[in-house]
Amino acid sequence: MKKIKNILLTFSILILMIISSSASAEKVSYNAGILTDYQFSGNNILSYAQQSVRNIFSSNEYAEVAFENYPLEKGIEALYNDKISFLTMVPMNDSLSQHVDYTSEPSGIGFLTLLTNSENDIYYDDFESFNNMSIGLIKNSYFENILKEYSIKNKFSSVPVYFDDIRALNDAVIRKDVDAMFTPSTQRPDGMRLIAKCGEFNYYCAVKKGDTQMLNTLNQYLSSLKLSSPFYLYSEYVDNFRIPYRNMSALTDDECTALKNQQKLRILVPADNYPLSFYDEENNEYSGVYENIVEKIAQTAGISIEYIPYDDYDATLDNIIMGNGDAFLTASGSKQGLITATAPYTSISYIPVSKKDVNVFEDSAIKIGILKNDSWITDYLNETHPQWTIEKYDSINSLLRNVENEKIVFALISSPDMQTKTSLISHPDLSIIGDFNISIPVSLGISNPSCPKRVVDVLNKTIKNMSVPEAELESKVYTLSHIYVPNFRDMIYANKNWIGISLIILAAIVFIAKLREKHFKRLSMTDPLTQIPNRRYFDKNASKLMEKNPNQPYLLATLDARNFKIVNDRFGRIVGDQTIANIALELKNRFKGVGLYARSQSDNFLIFLEDTSQNRELLDKLTDMDIHIHNSSKYQIPIKVGVCPIEKYDPDTNLSLYIDRANIAKKNLPGNGNYIRYFTLEMKDKLNIQNSIEIEMVQALRRGDFIVYYQPKYELKNDTIIGAEALVRWNHKEQGIISPGIFIPLFEKNGFIVDLDFYVYEEVMKKLSERIKMKERIVPVSMNVSRCHLGDNKFVEKLEALVDKYQIPKEYIEMEITESIFSQKDSSAVSLVNDLKKHGFAISMDDFGSGYSSLNLLRKMPIDTLKIDKVFIDNTDNSRRSKVIVAEIIAMSAKIDVKTICEGVETQQQRDFLKEAGCDMVQGYFYSRPLPYNEFEALLNSSN
Ligand code: C2E
Ligand code: CA
Ligand code: CA
Repeated sequence: MKKIKNILLTFSILILMIISSSASAEKVSYNAGILTDYQFSGNNILSYAQQSVRNIFSSNEYAEVAFENYPLEKGIEALYNDKISFLTMVPMNDSLSQHVDYTSEPSGIGFLTLLTNSENDIYYDDFESFNNMSIGLIKNSYFENILKEYSIKNKFSSVPVYFDDIRALNDAVIRKDVDAMFTPSTQRPDGMRLIAKCGEFNYYCAVKKGDTQMLNTLNQYLSSLKLSSPFYLYSEYVDNFRIPYRNMSALTDDECTALKNQQKLRILVPADNYPLSFYDEENNEYSGVYENIVEKIAQTAGISIEYIPYDDYDATLDNIIMGNGDAFLTASGSKQGLITATAPYTSISYIPVSKKDVNVFEDSAIKIGILKNDSWITDYLNETHPQWTIEKYDSINSLLRNVENEKIVFALISSPDMQTKTSLISHPDLSIIGDFNISIPVSLGISNPSCPKRVVDVLNKTIKNMSVPEAELESKVYTLSHIYVPNFRDMIYANKNWIGISLIILAAIVFIAKLREKHFKRLSMTDPLTQIPNRRYFDKNASKLMEKNPNQPYLLATLDARNFKIVNDRFGRIVGDQTIANIALELKNRFKGVGLYARSQSDNFLIFLEDTSQNRELLDKLTDMDIHIHNSSKYQIPIKVGVCPIEKYDPDTNLSLYIDRANIAKKNLPGNGNYIRYFTLEMKDKLNIQNSIEIEMVQALRRGDFIVYYQPKYELKNDTIIGAEALVRWNHKEQGIISPGIFIPLFEKNGFIVDLDFYVYEEVMKKLSERIKMKERIVPVSMNVSRCHLGDNKFVEKLEALVDKYQIPKEYIEMEITESIFSQKDSSAVSLVNDLKKHGFAISMDDFGSGYSSLNLLRKMPIDTLKIDKVFIDNTDNSRRSKVIVAEIIAMSAKIDVKTICEGVETQQQRDFLKEAGCDMVQGYFYSRPLPYNEFEALLNSSN
C-alpha cells in the first residue's frame, strides 16, 4: 500500500514539474504603468486601462501583464528606470512626446465633458447659461485646447481655474468654488450633472524614447487587434462603462419617456451587401460596417434593436407602411409622411463609371444607373441632382453592360462594391469619371407611422457625437477586408490627371483587388489556433472537388484524440491547445499535397482524399500517430479515425452527411484495439432504423404499439411460478416485434424511456387489478427502472399514484434496478432505492455481476432480491471458478437475508447447479421465454 502511495506521489510531482517548466518557458511578461492623473473615486479608469491593455495582448495566450499606477512624472521616471515596459492611458501631447514614443494606434478612448453641480442653473447645451462661468481644469491639462475650441465653436466665454489634481477639482465643484469642471471623465460623479460633451480623444500606449523593440511589439499587437476587431476602442469602452456618459443624463424628460416606450427598433437590413451589411453565416447574425456603427449608436442611446432582412428596398417600403419594421439601416433622405432620415451616421462615396470616350456633365439631364441594392441612395440623388433619371439594375454586370451600350450615361457604384465585386478588365471601354465623385450621407430611415419623433431626436443627439467620417468608414471597410495592399481608390486618385486610365493600370487594380480578396479569403478560411484550414475551407473545397470529378471515389475521414477532455482537465487548456496544434502539424506533414485537411473544432479534424489504396494506407497509419503531451513519452495520445467512403458525387447529398457517417463509424470502433473504422452499409441500416424509430416512437406509444411481455420466474424448490418480469416489446406495423435491445438504448439517449417505463408500469397494474377483481391468483411482477429516472424526485410519487389508482397491494410489485447505475461518485441511485424502500416497494438488483459488482454496495443497500446476471452462469458449464463465485454470492446473500434469482437459465445443468448452490429462483428460456400476456395468463392459470 505504501509503495503505491509513493509511486503516486512521485508521479504527481512529475506532472507538476512538467507543467510548470513548460508553462514558464512559454510566458512573456510585461509591466505596464497606468497614468492615474484622471483617476478619482467612482470612475473606472484603472479597470478600463487594465482591460484595454489585456485586450492588446489577447491574441497571445502566453503574454502576462502586471500593472502599476503612476501620476505622470513618476510614470515617466519609472519608464526610464526600466521599472515598467510601457505606459498606458497617455494622451497625445507635444510636450510629452519629447520623452516618449507613442504607439501608432490608440489603446483607449476618452470623452471630454463639462460637469456642473446638480444644483446650478446651467443646462445641457444651453450655451447662454454657460457664459462667463468658471471652469476648473487640472494643471497642465492636455485637453485645454479642446475646451478652447469648443467654447469658440459654441460662442461662450469662460474663466479657467487650475487645480493640482482631479480630487481637488471634484471637491471644488461640490463646494461651488467653480461653476463646472472639465474632465475626461468616464462616469458622472455623485452630485454632478452633465452640461456638455466637448469631444473625444484617444489614449495611447507610450514607451521610453527610442525603445523601438517594445514599440514595435505594441504596434504589432495593436494592428492585429484592429484587424480582428475594428471597433475595439468603442467596444472596450462600452464594456467598461456600460452606457457612456454621453447619453441618458443629457436627455430631456420626454425623450426619456419616448425611449422607454420604444421597446425595440426593428431595422430592415440588406443581407448580401458585404462588407457593409451582410448575413454572417458563421456567427449566425447580421453584421457589417453599417450594422457595427448603428449598434454602437443604439447601445449608446439606450435603444435595443433587431434586424429584419430585406431583399428589395422598394418592396420593403410596403413593410414600413404595414408596420413590419421600424427603420431602414440605410436611408439617404426623408420621405415625407413616411420616413424620417436621422442625421447621417456616416457617408459613403459612390464612383461614377462611364464609357471612355463620353464627356459627362454632371448637371445635364441624363440617365444614370445604380444597383437595385443601392435604391436607398435615390432620395439623396433626387434632391441633389433632380435632373438625373435613375435606372436600377440587378447586378453590377448588367449595370456596366448598359453603360457600354449607352442605355445609361454612367453607373454609380459604391466604392466597396467597386473594390470587391467588379472587374473593369472585362469592360475595356469603360472608365471611372475623374471629375466628380459623389458622397452619399448614410442615415437611419425611421418609420414615421411606428416611431415617435422623439426617438429620432434621441438618435440624432447620439449620432452627433458618434458619426463616422467617410474616410474612417472606408478605412473600416478596408480593415474588414484585411487590406495589406494599396487600395483601389488611392490608386485612381493618384492617377487622376492621366487622360483616361490605361488598361494596364486597370489590370493592376483588378489584380490587386483580387489579391486582397484572396488574402481576405485565406484569413477567413484558416483556423487561428493551428494555422491549418478551417471547416469552412474544407466544406467549400471538398464540395468543389467532388463536383469537378463526379465519378472519382473519395474518402472523408474524421479524426480526434481519444479522451481529449482528460488532457484538458488534467493538464489545462494551454497544454490542450498545444496538443491540438501538434496534431494539426502532423496532419499537415502527412497530407499536404495529398488531399484536404482541416480542423473543424476542438480536437476534431477532417481529411478528404481520393479513394486509392495508398491513401487508405495513409489513413490506417494515422492511428499510430505519435502525439505526446509535453514531449514526454509517457502520455501518448491515441487517435481515433472514422472514414466514410464516397462512391461518387451526388448533388443532393450534403457534405455534412458524410462527416456524420464518418463520425458514426468512429463512434463504433471495433474495440479490439483498432482505432480506425470505415462506415458500412450495416451502419447505414442501423442508422435508418434509429431514425425511423425516433420519428415513430411517440405515435407508437399513443397507438398502443408497445406491448408488455411477461417472463415467468420459478421457485427452484418446487418448480412453480412465483413471479414474472415485465419486458417491453414494440409491435411494429412493418418490422414486426422489435426487441428492446434495439430501442431502449436509443430511448435512454433521447429521454423517451421515461414515458415508456410508466406506460409499462400502468399496463402491468391494469392487468394485476383485473385479476384481483376477478379474484384470480396473482404473482408479483417486477418492472425495470431506467437510469433516466435518476434524479427525478417525483418518480416514487408518480409510481405511488399508479398503485393507488389500480389499488395494487405493494407486495405484488418489485422494481428492478440495474447494478451499473450505482456509482461511487453519484449517490442518486442509492437515494432512489432508499426512497422506493421507504414507500414499501420491493427492490431487486438487476444484472448483478455484469459490471463492477460490489458486495460492499450490497451490504449498504436495502435490497430484497439479487438478480445474478446471465454471464455468470454462461460459463458455469465449464468454469469451476465462476461456479465457486456464484455459489459464494448465493451463500452470502442468504446470510444477509437477500433472496437470489438467476436469469438466463437455458440448460438443465445450469438449473441443477443453481438448485444445488441454494439459489431461490430462476428465470430463463429453460423454463419459459417472455410471453404475451394471454399466454402468460394461461400458463399461470394452469400451474399451481
Ligand atoms: P434485463 O432487465 O436484464 O432483462 C432480461 C433479458 O434477458 C430480457 O431481454 C429477456 O428476454 C432475456 N432473457 C431471459 N431469459 C433468457 C435466457 O434464458 N437466455 C437469454 N439469452 N436471454 C434471456 P429483453 O426482453 O430483450 O430485454 C433486454 C433489456 O431491455 C432488459 O434487460 C432491460 O434492461 C431492458 N428492458 C426491457 N423492458 C424494459 C422496460 O419496460 N423498461 C426498461 N427501462 N428497460 C426494459
Ligand atoms: Ca430486468
Ligand atoms: Ca437482467
